[in-house]
Amino acid sequence: MAQAIQGLKEAGLFQQTGQRAKRSAIHTPALPLAPATARQIRWAFFIVIISIAVTAAAVPFARLPLLKVTAFIPSYESATATCDLVTAVLLFGRVTRRRSVAFLALATGYLFNACIVAVHGLTFPGVFSETGLFAANDQTTAWLYIFWHGGFCLFVLGYAMFPEHERAFGYIGRHPGRVIACSATGVVALVAALTLLATVGHGALPTIIQGGNYALMVSTGTSPAVLALSALALLALLRRQERTVLDVWLMVVMSVWLLDVMLSSVVSSSRYDLGWYAGRCYGLVAACCLLITLLFEMNRLYDRLNSALANARTLEQDLTFRAENDSLTGLPNRTLFYDRLETAMARCRRTKKLMALLYVDIDNFKTINDSLGHAAGDDLLRSFAQRLSRCVRAADTVARLGGDEFTVILENLGSRETARSVVDKLMAALRHPFAVGGNDIQANASIGIAYCSDGEIKPDLLIKQADAALYQAKQHGRNHYRIHMPEAGSAR
Ligand code: GH3
Ligand code: MG
Repeated sequence: MAQAIQGLKEAGLFQQTGQRAKRSAIHTPALPLAPATARQIRWAFFIVIISIAVTAAAVPFARLPLLKVTAFIPSYESATATCDLVTAVLLFGRVTRRRSVAFLALATGYLFNACIVAVHGLTFPGVFSETGLFAANDQTTAWLYIFWHGGFCLFVLGYAMFPEHERAFGYIGRHPGRVIACSATGVVALVAALTLLATVGHGALPTIIQGGNYALMVSTGTSPAVLALSALALLALLRRQERTVLDVWLMVVMSVWLLDVMLSSVVSSSRYDLGWYAGRCYGLVAACCLLITLLFEMNRLYDRLNSALANARTLEQDLTFRAENDSLTGLPNRTLFYDRLETAMARCRRTKKLMALLYVDIDNFKTINDSLGHAAGDDLLRSFAQRLSRCVRAADTVARLGGDEFTVILENLGSRETARSVVDKLMAALRHPFAVGGNDIQANASIGIAYCSDGEIKPDLLIKQADAALYQAKQHGRNHYRIHMPEAGSAR
C-alpha cells in the first residue's frame, strides 16, 4: 500500500520537477560569452574609474626616483608571463570548442605577451647580467616593451574586428588543433625575430632611450604611437555589438593597459621612478584581469554543470516514472504490472506460496462518465485507485491496466480464505460512496480472481483466467467476485 501511495504522490511530484527542468533548460550561451550582467558592468566601470583616479594622483609624482629594486623585474615579469600563459592556454582551449577567429586572435595575443615578457625580463639590464642576456644593449628592453605593448594591441584589434561566430569558421572549423599549433609556432618565431631585431639588429631601429632617460620615447613618437594603438583597441572593443563578459573585462584590460603605457613610457622619465613602478603594477593588473574573469566564469560553469546534471537526473527519473506508471493515478501501468507479475510468479514457483491475481473493473463506469462528465470520471478513478491501494499490503501490487480496469497481485497468501478475506475487505471498502466533484457517488466493482500456487502456468494464462472470472462476475449481475476454477475451466 505504502508503495502504491508513494507512487501516487510521485505522480504529482514528477509533474512539478519536469516543469522545473524545462525552465532551466533554456539555452544560455557558453561562458564567458554570455552577455555581461549589469553587476559585472558596474564592477568593470568601478575598476576603471579607480585606476584612472590612482593614475591622476600618481602623475604629479611620476618622475620621483624610487629605490632601485632589481628583484622587482624578475618577480613582476614572471608573474605576468605566468598569468598571460595560463590565459592563453584557457583561450586556446576555447578555440578548440568555438573555433572562432576572434578567440584565436586573442589567445595568440596572450601567448605573444607571455613569450615577449619572458624575453624582456631576461634581457633587462642588471637582472640576469649587467647588460642583460642575449647580447642585449641599452635599447633592447625599451624596444621589446614597445613591441610587447604595441603588438598586443594589434591582437586585440584582431579580436575586436572579427564577430563571434557559433559556427565553425573555415579551416579553423576543420582543423582547430593545427591552427593553434601554427599560431603558437608563429608567435615563437615572431618573438624570436623581434628579439633579434632588438638585440643584434638594434642599429636598424631609432634610439629611444638615452642614458636611462625616456625622453626620446616621446619625442620620436614611439610611446605616443603605442598609446594611440591602445586607445584604438579600446575603441574597437567599445564598438563591438556584443557586450559579453569577455568583452567587458577585455575593455578593463585595455583601459589599464593604456594607463600602463602612459605612466611607464610617457609620463615617467626613467627606470625605477614612481611612474615606471606604477606602470608595471598596472601591467600586472592587466595580465591578471582576464585570467581572474575566466577562472570565475569557470566556477560558474561548474555550478551550471552541476545543476544541469541534477536536472538530467530528475528528467531521467521522471521519464522512467512516466514509462512505468499511469499518469492519471500514479499506479504501475500495464508494462510495470507485467514485470511485477512475472517476478511474483517466479517467486511463487520458488517458494510454493499461494498467490492471487485480482482483475477489478468498475461497474457501469460509462454511465458515471456520461452523467457527471469525464473530469468527474477521472476523479473517481483516482479515488478508486487510492482506496484499492489502502486495502492491500505494501509488498502487493495495485496497477491500472487502462480505462476502469485495475489489477491486484496478492503474494504470500496463507490460504485461499486469506485471499477471499482481502477481496471481501476490498468489496466492503469500495461500497462506500466516493466524494467526486461535490457529489457522493456509489461506484461498485466486479472482481475476477485467479490463484497460482506453484507458478507453473504462464503469466498470460493467469491474466486470462482472472479476466474470465471477472467476465463471469459481470454476467452474474455485477458488484460480485468470481474465482476461476482451473479444474472446471470456469469461474465460481
Ligand atoms: P461494465 O460494468 O461492463 O464494466 O461497464 P462500464 O460502463 O464500466 O464499461 P467499460 O468498463 O467497458 O468501459 C470503461 C469506460 O471507461 C470506457 C471509457 O469511456 C472510460 N474510460 C476509459 N479511460 C478513461 C479515463 O482515463 N478517464 C475516464 N473518465 N474515463 C475513461
Ligand atoms: Mg467497467
